[in-house]
Amino acid sequence: MKKKRIVTISVLAVMAAAIIAVAVMARSVRKIDSSDTTFYNQAMGLAIATDDGLYHMDSRNFLYFYDNKEKQDVQVCNKPNCTHEAWQEDTPDEERCHSYLGDGLIGGFLSEDQLYIIQIDPMLQQAVITSSAVDRSGQKKVTELTMDHLDTFAVKDGILYLAGTSNELEVDENGMQVPTGVVDTWVYRVDLENGKQKELTPRQKENNATLQVAGLWGDKLYCREISFEKPFDGLNFEEAGQRITWYAYDISAGTYEKTLEGADGNGGFYMVQDILMYDDGENWGENGFERYVVYAADLTSGDIEKCGESDKQPQYADGKVFLSEGEAYQYYEAETKKTVELKNSVLNVFYCWQTPGVYIHGVTAGQNGQPGLITKEDFYNGNESFIPLAWETDQDKQ
Ligand SMILES: [Zn+2]
Repeated sequence: MKKKRIVTISVLAVMAAAIIAVAVMARSVRKIDSSDTTFYNQAMGLAIATDDGLYHMDSRNFLYFYDNKEKQDVQVCNKPNCTHEAWQEDTPDEERCHSYLGDGLIGGFLSEDQLYIIQIDPMLQQAVITSSAVDRSGQKKVTELTMDHLDTFAVKDGILYLAGTSNELEVDENGMQVPTGVVDTWVYRVDLENGKQKELTPRQKENNATLQVAGLWGDKLYCREISFEKPFDGLNFEEAGQRITWYAYDISAGTYEKTLEGADGNGGFYMVQDILMYDDGENWGENGFERYVVYAADLTSGDIEKCGESDKQPQYADGKVFLSEGEAYQYYEAETKKTVELKNSVLNVFYCWQTPGVYIHGVTAGQNGQPGLITKEDFYNGNESFIPLAWETDQDKQ
């Protein structure tokens, strides 16, 4: 975990002024299927759940696939006699391991049987999307995007939907370009067939704004914007006046409108079909929020229901939100709208990312967190039977 954690922390440090509340959800990675649409949260890098298994990467950026049926975690390389070593710029093509995804990998997704990976160059604030078959043959560049980080996005019918953000810059007394704190946000799309990009909404200017794709339901793309009434310097949280705004972009009508007016939600979010669950941090203390209130919004009716409270950042997986009170856990299920007690929960030692098939994917708690899977059966029975996924290398351990 070492490498990824450092990356996450440095990204957060840079973004801290804008995303205090978002930071807590940046550790989660999840995907929700609903027919042909897919939502991804890839702040931890590539992890793609399918019905058959899970594509993921190790700390060296090699691609693996955990096969649910075979119960095996294998490197995605079908090259004969390959040594599966990382390659350099000057390594001949025939010696390059197919499963090595290269530097700067920040995410990936599947669309129409093609695997797409997104690599970033933070210095150039540029990301490159590459497509290939799922066995990594036939790799080709799709497009370049102007961005310096990636968290959530959605894919539907061969189109990638993203939130764009751009920091307004000014020149300071030393002649250096520095951010003014004003951020432009917008929604844009990328046609995966030809790489063409199009901005779908007008650019909005707000103090320290972040815009995230929250999910897709039917033809509507839901987004959350967090901004501040006055410039937020990272310390004046109460005074700056945090504002939460939810938007719905209608893909067929091309309209972008505010929705769920009056709804908060400055922490994590999770869409289960047309139910949007989100949490709101309360009591800003020395170590962040001390209390979280969780809500479920019915996007069809507009009704908002309080699901419960939690003393730790709520976790979302398997159509549920998990709430804690000390070491005791309970969950609220979107489909049944019921709250159930979870005895001897593994959540005391495990953090959920997403729900591939019969498993829950996540990471064990602590400094040397190990990414892994746990069957839903073990998860709900409180059995700490984690299936480790390829992650740490010998080099990391030294
Ligand atoms: Zn190989």
